[in-house]
Amino acid sequence: MYEVDKNQPVLVTGANGYVAGHVVKRLLEEGVTVHAAIRDINNPEKTKHLQALADSSPGEIKFFETDLLKEGSYAKGMEGCSIVFHTASPFSIRVNDPQKDLVDPALLGTRNVLEEAKKHSSVQRVVLTSSCAAIYGDNADIQHASGGTLTEDVWNETSSLDHQPYCYSKTVAEKEAWKVAKSQSQWRLVVVNPGLVIGPGISPNSTSESYKLVQQMGDGTLKMGAPRLGFGVVDVRDLAEAHLAAAYIPDAEGRHIITGHATDIFSMAQTLIPKYGSKYPIPRKAMPKWLLWLVGPLVDSAFTRRFIARNVDVEWRGDNSKSIQKLGIKYRPLEESMVDFFAQLAESGKLQKS
Ligand code: NAP
Repeated sequence: MYEVDKNQPVLVTGANGYVAGHVVKRLLEEGVTVHAAIRDINNPEKTKHLQALADSSPGEIKFFETDLLKEGSYAKGMEGCSIVFHTASPFSIRVNDPQKDLVDPALLGTRNVLEEAKKHSSVQRVVLTSSCAAIYGDNADIQHASGGTLTEDVWNETSSLDHQPYCYSKTVAEKEAWKVAKSQSQWRLVVVNPGLVIGPGISPNSTSESYKLVQQMGDGTLKMGAPRLGFGVVDVRDLAEAHLAAAYIPDAEGRHIITGHATDIFSMAQTLIPKYGSKYPIPRKAMPKWLLWLVGPLVDSAFTRRFIARNVDVEWRGDNSKSIQKLGIKYRPLEESMVDFFAQLAESGKLQKS
């Protein structure tokens, strides 16, 4: 469906991240030279998995030290690049200062990277890793969407610094990206809006929230029951394909909901029972909403009563047809993503056996 241009390098921001790792892997496999923008190039923990991939792939990798909040820090890495994949953004649900920890790096970082792209005549396309979080904040919002289903026309209007600040950070960042894109005519912005990302990462030591969530299904945290907290979910490997398609399909445009499955935390955990149910404390019961409402805020600061009321036992519905028709994405089964992900966590010693 697309042809990769091997002759021009591309920049990937946050290249050591969970999602970016697979984007870099696919680019290296295609023989592309990847300029990997990361925060600390002297920390081998941040680079060794990427370097190992490059060593066994036709593509080449070059590391550049950057910071979302440091103007000009992406200049060197962007030199000669045809495509900028902007994935760097903090993905954390529990933060002390939502403005400083989430919104500033997301919003100012997006402005910084995309304004820099305006200064490089080689850049033809910017692919932004936004999120379904920029489309909706709470599952309760989905009922108000046309037909009760999220589409690329919908924007998150309910998140704020006080409620769902991560979703708020992704919303203001994507809006900023469209604003910068409209201020120029040199490159085209193509946005991917993934749901919750799961599946094995390039490095088992990721700090992405995706890891924490699936880890809790096997370390005993959820053994009393898992919430029916609805999500659209996508495998990290399918999401990488979506990034490449967004970059290299000539007429790709606009936003794209990237989700393979509408599911919830309890149902996701059930996919693990046939293979891992006898070895790990996988939750076998759904936690009742009333119980979560009572105890949730006491055990987890992110589980506020407002969050529980508006999300637990509320179905997630989104339309992924644009990603299938325009980007050619073929989503793998949920079970495959969950089992592969869990296997990585188990092998790397991140699960405590029951
Ligand atoms: P991740 O592994 O935590 O990756 C985030 C990346 O952003 C890391 O490379 C991190 O660098 C970098 N970063 C954060 N603050 C930075 C700063 N001030 N300067 C430079 N780099 C900074 O999380 P992820 O899940 O892969 O997320 C990647 C992207 O996908 C994000 O835009 C996220 O919003 C989006 N997304 C993720 C999911 C999901 O379920 N995982 C779903 C939808 C969208 P360090 O390693 O140095 O901290």
